[in-house]
Amino acid sequence: MSDPILHPETLAAHAASHPDPLTGAIIPPLHLSTTYERDADLSYGRGRCYARADNPSYDAAIATLNGLEGGADTLLFASGMAAATAIFQALAPGDHVVVSQVMYWALRAWLNGNATRWGLDVTFADTSDLDAVRAALRPGRTRLLWVETPANPLWTISDIAALAELAHAAGTRLAVDSTVATPVLTQPLSLGADLVVHSASKYLNGHSDVIAGSITTARKDEVWAAIKAVQVQQGGVPGAFEAWLLQRGLRTLFLRVRWQSASALTLAERLAAHPAIAEVLYPGLPSFPGHAIAARQMQGGFGAMISVRVKGGRNSAIATAAHVRLWRRATSLGGVESLIEHRASIEGPTSPVPDDLLRLSVGAEAIEDLWCDLAAALATAAHS
Ligand SMILES: *Cc1c(COP(=O)(O)O)cnc(C)c1O
Repeated sequence: MSDPILHPETLAAHAASHPDPLTGAIIPPLHLSTTYERDADLSYGRGRCYARADNPSYDAAIATLNGLEGGADTLLFASGMAAATAIFQALAPGDHVVVSQVMYWALRAWLNGNATRWGLDVTFADTSDLDAVRAALRPGRTRLLWVETPANPLWTISDIAALAELAHAAGTRLAVDSTVATPVLTQPLSLGADLVVHSASKYLNGHSDVIAGSITTARKDEVWAAIKAVQVQQGGVPGAFEAWLLQRGLRTLFLRVRWQSASALTLAERLAAHPAIAEVLYPGLPSFPGHAIAARQMQGGFGAMISVRVKGGRNSAIATAAHVRLWRRATSLGGVESLIEHRASIEGPTSPVPDDLLRLSVGAEAIEDLWCDLAAALATAAHS
């Protein structure tokens, strides 16, 4: 139902929806029915059979994501992990995949664990380095190139357009985890990716009150049918209310992401000049290795995720997080409240994340409040 002449901000504000034809309600109703009536001839004339596969409460979020990502179809999942793993599970044991070395840690753990046990042949590569990807791809054998950009929690930037070319030349599909960029800042399908994945628990919903995921495809083909079969057969689908909350969150996506990205850039610049900080990892800083590609590939901002390496190592990092009062010490990202986290403690001993790193998810608060709180915590930690 998306009107192609509307701007994406408009599409999002309306969640690609029209008033309910039955009642005139301008907000879509919540459909709790698990099953749908058959016609007398046993057909499903209204197109819905059973809610694991056909859930009208998903329609608004699906239409919005199709429009914002420029995709042919979208599937909603019970979580970002359910979405990501469905793409790999649509492959066959023995298939080879190349994936980003720096990526969301739980997916890396799954790829090293269950996926490998199941027979998937996984190569981790530095996807910010085209030569490394070229060397890792096995033409005719590699079924999927999986890239996260910016990638958790170092915000490593990978060049989607260049990787799409490399992948396609090797007969491989490119899937992009675009959770951190959001469709506000990057549209991976328009850069040549075949699939775009989101943890909708993050920016798409934006209020830290829904766990959900999505995949949007450039085209409806046999791979898409296989992914859809995994979704429907394994049943990793969101509840109706979660999908309804997601369409509600999507309405303010542009306001939130643009505001939060602008705040993040200012905070990153101030942090880079702060004496207690050894290094700021943020794609918006000209000193950041992926900055030039990010400037080309991201429009209107560099996202709202920053990592800092604190002088004094692990203890200083943990002490800084201990002294914030406004920032919340919590995992996750993409909500309107700012979060701070010592990642290495979360990811455990196998993590490649440095010990002195704090991950910041910049929310929608007044930037001076965020800065005062952070600067005070850094000062207290430096003197403790
Ligand atoms: C959170 C996250 C995921 C996993 O999503 P869940 O909704 O928590 O399952 C995947 N990728 C990235 C980049 C994430 O930040």
